[in-house]
Amino acid sequence: KGTLYLVPTPIGNLEDMTYRAVRVLEEVHTIAAEDTRHSGLLLKHFDIKKPLISYHEHNKAAKEEPLMELLLQGHDVALISDAGMPAISDPGAELVQAAIEAAVDVVPLPGPNAALTALIASGLDTREFTFLGFLPKKSSHRQAVLERVATYEGTLLFYEAPHRLQASLQELYKYLGNRPIVVGRELTKKFETFVRTDLAALQQADNWLTIKGEFVLVVGGAVHGKVSEQEENPIAASDYVSAVTMLME
Ligand code: SAM
Repeated sequence: KGTLYLVPTPIGNLEDMTYRAVRVLEEVHTIAAEDTRHSGLLLKHFDIKKPLISYHEHNKAAKEEPLMELLLQGHDVALISDAGMPAISDPGAELVQAAIEAAVDVVPLPGPNAALTALIASGLDTREFTFLGFLPKKSSHRQAVLERVATYEGTLLFYEAPHRLQASLQELYKYLGNRPIVVGRELTKKFETFVRTDLAALQQADNWLTIKGEFVLVVGGAVHGKVSEQEENPIAASDYVSAVTMLME
């Protein structure tokens, strides 16, 4: 049988590709990639020429069989996603389960991941944390997730898309109360920014709609297992902040 390699790829900075990732991608028979055009550019950069099979959220059920077929025929397959670790807020978990069920070896490579990259520079507690990925689309589901973690004392990690950032920051404040938050934007890239503030302060920010980029939200845990209070005194007008100023400078 072949081996299924799980290969992380850079989250912005191509120098974060590991030597081992390059070697494994050069050696496997086939690379399963989330977006073959996007990954084609990465592979070109490292001069890797390999057959690519697309494996993404909407075709992963159908693509499992041909990929398992290759593995069972004795061919090594590498799974990559558009950025960071496959199977972390990206497709991969089902293929790993199928491989395990078929007694195919699964070999994970360490490498870039946006959540852990933000966490280690956040200044918040790194001893215990929970990664929640993207909050669910449905508002009642979001509420359920946030209520479930509202008394958790470890640090909370979220991914968020720019157009949902403001709404999510409002909901975090609504269900968790005021907490320290670190917004990590465009990590490893030219405009990498960390905003270290609290949720109440971010409620005052405007201009969210003009904010672009990729974001990780690192939120402090509950203190003594209690949902945090909201601010008693609304922030004075003089403390009014612009999201653009906070994130773009
Ligand atoms: N598999 C990836 C990983 O291991 O981090 C995550 C993929 S998920 C589809 C994409 C989300 O990860 C983005 O919306 C953003 O929240 C976060 N992300 C990815 N790259 C980032 C970066 N360079 N800076 C900040 N956040 C990033």
